Amino acid sequence: METLLNRKDIFGLTLAELQEALTPFHVPRYRAKQIAEWMYKRGAVSFADMTNLPKQLREELGAALVIGRPKTKDRLDSVDGHTTKFLLEFADGTAVESVLMRQPYGNSICVSTQAGCSMGCAFCASTLHGMARNLTTGEILAQAITINDMLRAEGQGGKVDTVVIMGSGEPLMNYDHVLGFIRLLHEDYVLGMGYRNITLSTSGIVPQMYQLADEGLPISLSVSLHAPHQELRTELMPISRKYPMEEVIKAARHYADVTKRRVTYEYILIDHVNDGEEQARELVSLMRGQLASVNLIPINPVAERHLLRPSAARIDWFEHYLTTHHVNVTVRREMGTDIQAACGQLRNQHLQD
Ligand code: SF4
Repeated sequence: METLLNRKDIFGLTLAELQEALTPFHVPRYRAKQIAEWMYKRGAVSFADMTNLPKQLREELGAALVIGRPKTKDRLDSVDGHTTKFLLEFADGTAVESVLMRQPYGNSICVSTQAGCSMGCAFCASTLHGMARNLTTGEILAQAITINDMLRAEGQGGKVDTVVIMGSGEPLMNYDHVLGFIRLLHEDYVLGMGYRNITLSTSGIVPQMYQLADEGLPISLSVSLHAPHQELRTELMPISRKYPMEEVIKAARHYADVTKRRVTYEYILIDHVNDGEEQARELVSLMRGQLASVNLIPINPVAERHLLRPSAARIDWFEHYLTTHHVNVTVRREMGTDIQAACGQLRNQHLQD
């Protein structure tokens, strides 16, 4: 990517790509690894920060290359201190949301892969303004590195432990950049993150689900189901017209078969829409014989959508029904409802402002 000053942006390059970008500077190959570690692991936002590089080289590099990092445009902390939401703005003014969740098992982050989204899910704020554009590998990675830098600065060995690719956007519609991001996260000169600590969530883009299964990466796959039959699913998720539920489930089963990883079906619970006995029964029969679990997500109401959260009693009932019918089920802990945790809400407010 070229910046306005025509300096090449190196943030998001792999080590091999960085070596290539450094060719005109005639530096020894080990310098590329040093620079990568500065950018990705040690919080350097400019070459001036890279104190083990000769001063003249730092100046030459700074004149020709740039480390493209977003600005933190807004930051909201939940009252309990467990959730922080960031609105990050890239050089062209595009802003996206990323979320840090301090869980008992470690720091989990949720990253966006597109600015906005074109999928049109009825319960989602990210899609209200359509999609602006795909994010690059560097822009997706920058979300993780920005939060990792912040955690490191807090001390006590804080770092990003797990990543969920579940923010704004449909990751499988930005396949190459998302895969580039996943592979970079795993590199030891970036965060050295185990693939098993990475979860990708899709609304069910069937061809790319098969493609992902063939990548040989043991990342976790999470599929947005949200309804137990095609008709209701299409009402909630228009993409279901193009990729019918049956096909999505077939692709998810294939993913579980190939990777031996349990697939998680996300199921947003919406009051009197998909949380009744009939839907619970259908969901149980859909799950039969699958290496899968269901994650129930009581909806974070989006004012523009008029969809309401079920009562605690209805949520408990639905969970209990699934459990007693031998479905592996979890209910997503409420995090950050006081800071507009539903994806896209902060960005929308920014767009309106
Ligand atoms: S839920 Fe995901 S796929 Fe659906 S509109 Fe929102 S961001 Fe897009």
